[in-house]
Amino acid sequence: MKIMKFGGSSLGTGKRMLHVAEIIKKFSNKSEVVIVVSAMNGVTDKLISLFQKCKSRDFSTAFEEIRILHGIHNSALRDLGLRKNDYVHIKKSLYHLFGDLSIYLFLCKDYSLSDYDYVISFGEKLCSHLLSAALNKIDVIAKPIDASSVIVANNMFGNARALLADTKIKAKKSLLPLLLKHIVPVVTGFYAATKEGKIVTLGRGGSDYSATILSNVLDAKEVILWKEVDGVFSTDPKKDDQAKFYSELLYSEALALAERGAKVLHSEAMKPVKSKGIIVWVKNIFKPDLIGTKIWKGVSQ
Ligand code: ASP
Ligand code: MG
Repeated sequence: MKIMKFGGSSLGTGKRMLHVAEIIKKFSNKSEVVIVVSAMNGVTDKLISLFQKCKSRDFSTAFEEIRILHGIHNSALRDLGLRKNDYVHIKKSLYHLFGDLSIYLFLCKDYSLSDYDYVISFGEKLCSHLLSAALNKIDVIAKPIDASSVIVANNMFGNARALLADTKIKAKKSLLPLLLKHIVPVVTGFYAATKEGKIVTLGRGGSDYSATILSNVLDAKEVILWKEVDGVFSTDPKKDDQAKFYSELLYSEALALAERGAKVLHSEAMKPVKSKGIIVWVKNIFKPDLIGTKIWKGVSQ
């Protein structure tokens, strides 16, 4: 089994989602795959801004921002070019999600950290519906799965850590029956539920962590983190043309890079794979034939 995570830029438009769907199709012909999605490019930032507008009672700007966010997702949906019935079905799902989000925001009392986490989880929810539809369009049967029924985490709102033993029970119960029926689960990255069932986020860039958590509890063979760069670099290659590319890294080296702030990796993401020796690949979604960076325990250990 492989866990494949797709970042926000890979899913930035409907056209890109179709490209991602083709890549998933290729992999799903060869092995079992579980997909983890991030929100569409920039959406989490927009949700944060929306939350802050509501918190400061600036509802007219907030209303406008919701309209813009809805427009971004509707336009991605149109670009998918679905059959009429499927289009209408997903359009309704988006409509309901935006309805839930709006009601929550406008009825919210104290705009606490737990409210914040609930609100910013919507980016991944919306995206999982769109990517599942893109997969179904090319005859890969897929289903959006809300991570609150899969990953359990502690109640450190804004930066929670997974509880692996609890997650193992939930993840197996929710995902294995789908895999048995050859349905590809498209799990929302970035957030989990506490034991009490509240939505909690795993820190910015947390969908990498979601992917490695799932690889641990499902005993996957490898994790592929699809990004928009060729792999892991010493510094941001978009800003620094001297950035050094790593074709291979030990878990400890990847962790040190993440802790030094290499944006390409979430600082917790290595822990669930290190304990089980699960290989992580960081690959470029726009150049899928490039090998990318391999993160592993090395030969001699
Ligand atoms: N969408 C979330 C963020 O922007 C999680 C992620 O991208 O991994 O932080
Ligand atoms: Mg993101």
